[in-house]
Amino acid sequence: MLGWLYCSLERWSRSDSSRLDNRFEFIPRWYIRRLSRAKLVRTLRYVYRNSPFQRSIWRKAGLGLCDLRSPEVLQRIPFTTSDSLAESPQSYCCVPEDQLIHIVSSSGTKNRRKKIYLTADDFDHQTRMIGTNLRRFPGVSCVAAMFLVHDPTWSNGAVVRHAIAQAGMLGFLSGEHLSASQQIDLIKCYGINCIVSTPSYISRLTVEARQDLRSLGIRYIQLGGQSWSETLRTRLQQAWGAKLIDTYGCAEAIFGMASECVCQDGLHLAESDFWIEIIDPATGKVLPDGQEGELVFTTLSRRGMPLVRYRTGDLSHLIRPVSRCPCGLPVRKMARVRGRIDDVLIIGAGCNLYPDEIDNALLSISGLTDYQLTLERDGFRDVLHLSVESDSPPDDLRTVLSNALLSVPSIGVSHDVTRVLTFGRLESVPLGSLSAGRPKTVRIIDRRVS
Ligand SMILES: [Zn+2]
Repeated sequence: MLGWLYCSLERWSRSDSSRLDNRFEFIPRWYIRRLSRAKLVRTLRYVYRNSPFQRSIWRKAGLGLCDLRSPEVLQRIPFTTSDSLAESPQSYCCVPEDQLIHIVSSSGTKNRRKKIYLTADDFDHQTRMIGTNLRRFPGVSCVAAMFLVHDPTWSNGAVVRHAIAQAGMLGFLSGEHLSASQQIDLIKCYGINCIVSTPSYISRLTVEARQDLRSLGIRYIQLGGQSWSETLRTRLQQAWGAKLIDTYGCAEAIFGMASECVCQDGLHLAESDFWIEIIDPATGKVLPDGQEGELVFTTLSRRGMPLVRYRTGDLSHLIRPVSRCPCGLPVRKMARVRGRIDDVLIIGAGCNLYPDEIDNALLSISGLTDYQLTLERDGFRDVLHLSVESDSPPDDLRTVLSNALLSVPSIGVSHDVTRVLTFGRLESVPLGSLSAGRPKTVRIIDRRVS
C-alpha cells in the first residue's frame, strides 16, 4: 500500500504540481515520514551503484550495498564537505556527462565556487517544487526576482525565474542593476505583487525609492541568501505593507530547501526532497530536535548529482513537532538560520559573537542597508572595523554605530569590562558598494590569524 501511495504522489507531483496545492491538508504526517525514509534508502543505494568515488569512500567506512537498507545507516556514512565538492564536482555525478545539461554555482562568498550539475529532470523537479511553494501564498500572481544577473555562474535568479513559470505565474528577472525608480515603474506597470530577493538589496531599494511603497500592492517579499533580523522584518513590513517571508536553501541544494508560510513561525522543510540532520560541528554527532548545530542535508530527488550528508556550514535547529501548523502543511519546521559557523567569532576574552547578534544590532538602524565587519589584531587586543552602507549617515555616526555594537553582550563585555577589544574605523560607504559585482556581501572578515 505504501509503495502505491509513494508512486502515485511522485507521479502526481511530477505531472501537475498544482494538484498538490490543496491536498497537503489531507496528507498524514506519518506518510511524509515514510515517503522520506523510502526515498533516502533509494538514494543511498543509487549513489553506491552509480558513483565510484563515493562508493570507494563508503567501502573504506566499512559499508557495502547490503548495509544500505534503512535510514539508520546514514550516520555511518562519511560527510560530504564543501572543499571536496569544490575540488572534484564530477566525482559526485551519477549519470553520463551528456545528460547533465544544467549547472548551478554557489556564490563563493568565502571559498571556491561549487558547481552542481543537473539533468533536465532534476532541474524541472526542483523548480516545480519551488513553484509549488510559491503558489501557497494567497493572492500572488506576478513575481519579480531581484537577484544579480550580470554574473553568468550565479544562477539563483534563473532558478527562481523558472520556478515562477512552473508556478504558472507571470514573472520577471529584473536583477539588481535597475535603478530604484525603474524597479518601481516595473512593479506598477505589470502589477507585480510578490518580490523574491536578498535582504540587503530590498533594504537598499527601500531606502533609494524615497516614496510610499505601501501603495504598490506588494503582498509578499521572499528573502533568501543572507541572514537578516526580526527588526529588519518589522521595518520592511511597515515600509512595504507586505509580509516578509524567510526562505532557506544554498546553491548546493538548488535553493528550495525550506520556507516560512504565512504564519511566519519557522521554516517548513521540503521533507520529501531533502533529509535534514543537525550535527555537532566539532564531533559530527547528530543532535536531538531543538539543539542548535550545523545543518546537513541529503538530496532525495536528484539523479544527476545527488549529495549525501552535505555539510552546509549553516547554524540552525529543528523545531520539535507539537502539532500541525495552522497553514495545513504536514511537514516539519526548522528555525531561522543564525548564520554560518565560520562567521561565529571568538572575540576579546573568549566570548562567542554570533552573526545574528550583529544583524540584530546593526540592521535595526534606520537607513542602514548592509555592513562589513573586519577584525584585526593589535598586540593583545582585537580591533573591530566596521563599514556600513547608509544613504544619509548621521553626523554622530561613530556614536550610533559604537552604541549598536556595544549593545551586543560579547562586544560590550570585551570593550568595556575586559578591555581587550577596541573600535577602529567606523565608517559609512555608498549604498551597494560592499557587494559591488558580487552576489552578496562578505559581512564578516577575520584577519587576526592571517
Ligand atoms: Zn505553516
